Amino acid sequence: MGDTQTAAIYRGKKTFTVEEVPAATPGPGEVAVRIAYCGICGTDMHVFHGNMDARVGFERVIGHEMSGTIDAVGEGVDGFTPGQKAVVRPLDHCGDCPACKAGHQHVCHKLKFLGLDTNGAMQEVWVVPAHTIHVLPDDLKLDHAALIEPVAVACHDVRLSGLKAGEDVVVIGGGPIGILVAMVARDAGGKVVVSEVNRTRLAIAQKLGFDTVNPADCDLKAEIDARTGNKGADVVFEVSGTQPGVDAMTAVAATRARIVMVAIHAQKPQIDLFQFFWRELQLIGARVYEPEDYEKAIAIVSAGGVDADTVITDVAPLADIQKAFEDLDRSPTALKSLIKVGG
Ligand SMILES: [Zn+2]
Ligand SMILES: [Zn+2]
Repeated sequence: MGDTQTAAIYRGKKTFTVEEVPAATPGPGEVAVRIAYCGICGTDMHVFHGNMDARVGFERVIGHEMSGTIDAVGEGVDGFTPGQKAVVRPLDHCGDCPACKAGHQHVCHKLKFLGLDTNGAMQEVWVVPAHTIHVLPDDLKLDHAALIEPVAVACHDVRLSGLKAGEDVVVIGGGPIGILVAMVARDAGGKVVVSEVNRTRLAIAQKLGFDTVNPADCDLKAEIDARTGNKGADVVFEVSGTQPGVDAMTAVAATRARIVMVAIHAQKPQIDLFQFFWRELQLIGARVYEPEDYEKAIAIVSAGGVDADTVITDVAPLADIQKAFEDLDRSPTALKSLIKVGG
């Protein structure tokens, strides 16, 4: 490791600077990861747009959808060897709050999201707490491995839904996370329909082999009824974050369906609560992931359970991060853009 390393720093006003910063070394209990790739998350786009300035400030290295190799380990850390491929589960918990004490560290009341509340992976070497590391199989390609974080989100959503093979699934919203939820649900044996209004996203979902419905062109409930013998969907994922999506989630649900809230709603939507009573629906909140979701995501990506080469639509070097964010911001066709940080 040299004395300096290259890092992309968010400076506010839709601007990154790429700079040489002091090289990071791991302290006690920490691991340094040499970053290979880092994906651009929807959250990173919110940072770019200035919506999270109060939280991230103007000297933050962002990025969390990463892959890399172990570079060095700090004092008191065992079980890792430099050169091993790895990903980071970017959550640091307090260990002391009621959620942590109950074993739900991923929804810690003082949760720190690495790459937002601390510096992240858009830099050559990222130092993180050792408990966040998941080691990867040697033969997993590191560009594909950059999808593990968003796939882990999908794994958490699908696990909490209790989806069983053969059940009918509707995914409302076919953006990057919706598509990954659809892939993981299909991998679990669900019969998946993707509902999306954006024609480019519909085309991608179709290319990935999904049955799709455009609710702008037809009656979504009638389409789902026709496909399920008038039963409706056993599991519904609300990934759109819109009022029409929330209206659809109860409309398409079967009796005793489970509805998983994946989207972050900026406004409080109106929800048809009568349907929860009348058809004994269940509403399930799902936020980030737990270690077992990461292990599941690693297994699915390793086995080719997500079509990584279709999902990854762009790759740009760290030096071009500014252009990569600008391109993604106006691209109607991009699904997942990766920054190639190392090499
Ligand atoms: Zn993300
Ligand atoms: Zn806590």
